[in-house]
Amino acid sequence: MAVDGPGDCSSLDALREHVGDCQRCALAATRNRLVFGVGDPHARLMFIGEAPGKNEDLTGEPFVGAAGKFLDELLDSIGLHRSQVYIANMVKCRPPGNRDPEPIELQTCAPFLARQIELIAPDVIATLGRFAAHYVLQVTEPITTLRGKLYHRDGRNIVPVFHPAAALYDSSKRGVLLDDFHRIRVVLDRAERGE
Ligand code: SF4
Repeated sequence: MAVDGPGDCSSLDALREHVGDCQRCALAATRNRLVFGVGDPHARLMFIGEAPGKNEDLTGEPFVGAAGKFLDELLDSIGLHRSQVYIANMVKCRPPGNRDPEPIELQTCAPFLARQIELIAPDVIATLGRFAAHYVLQVTEPITTLRGKLYHRDGRNIVPVFHPAAALYDSSKRGVLLDDFHRIRVVLDRAERGE
């Protein structure tokens, strides 16, 4: 069957092939490596961040460097390893100078993430940081208001949490993130029990 769009891709591998050496938005011109996403293709928990940063752009992997290390610690605190979850970003290429992605870039890249979510079909999506929370929940409240609560979109549980990088600059957010990851664990366990 001919693949006309992301929706025709029947696996993550097929989707990765479809994305290819994507030149569909302006971010292609300045990226080093496209950061598609990593993890278990059938993960029950999926993380969505904003965009690749410098280290991610160089390695092609999401959440490496200090923020990624802290994310690994947070996962460990709820008995999970990176290989058991899936991690992706809203845009797959680094915005120059770590600026926010432009609306047209988000819009152009969004069908890839949407198809990733459909194919993985996680029970729980944890958004990392303000930008991802606003995008997934389609709200504008500050992340400080959104975090700590459970939302539902398209039959999935959505748990907004701070971006792990926030704890690198403000140590008070470390404890908040640990608490919120324990909340993620509770939501995951409830979903597993079918509650
Ligand atoms: S950000 Fe998305 S749409 Fe833009 S070039 Fe990268 S993969 Fe393509």
